[in-house]
Amino acid sequence: RFITFEGGEGAGKSTQMKRLAASLAGRGIAVVETREPGGTPDAEAIRSFILSGRARPLGGGGEAVLFAAARADHVDRVIRPALERGAFVLCDRFIDSTRAYQGADGVDSALIGSLESLAIGDTRPDLTLILDLPAETGLARAAARRGAGDADRFESETIARHEARRRIFIEIARSEPGRCVVIDATRDVDDVAAEIWQVVSERLLK
Ligand code: C5P
Repeated sequence: RFITFEGGEGAGKSTQMKRLAASLAGRGIAVVETREPGGTPDAEAIRSFILSGRARPLGGGGEAVLFAAARADHVDRVIRPALERGAFVLCDRFIDSTRAYQGADGVDSALIGSLESLAIGDTRPDLTLILDLPAETGLARAAARRGAGDADRFESETIARHEARRRIFIEIARSEPGRCVVIDATRDVDDVAAEIWQVVSERLLK
């Protein structure tokens, strides 16, 4: 089973992913936790290259191509083999981050769609949890934890850009209700974790 976590900055994806992994492991289920951009040594190198800003001369489309190359490596080496072994794979960001971030950057949606098919083939998430919160709330949380992790260019962008991504995430959820569930991420960590556990139990553990 393949579960992805999506949402803007400061939505709590990583925290919630760890909570779900612990709950699944507690039931004796094999779990692989991974993230994008990244998840393999080569894909992490591509992540660093893009987040450092050095890929900026390539434009949004060029960055989308690099993200797709990273994703193909990640799917081939980590995600698909783990799913074939029968593990649950939990991934922090996946295809919907590309649709939302590169989409909001103005990259052509046909290009995004082609790159997505090329990178993932038929390895599609069974469930995508979209952690939704207003841009101001997410940016305030992200600012509070800054200093750790990537010093990247993305978190300093405008509220308007964040809200554009948020609208894309919500639109994806509306158009793919069989795959996506929107979770209100403004609530406290325990409440969000409880709702996620309920959704996963109902949809994937029956
Ligand atoms: O999820 P995390 O915060 O680790 O992601 C790192 C950064 O990469 C994010 O701040 C996001 O702005 C950026 N990103 C992006 N396009 C993607 C995926 C992530 O710009 N497709």
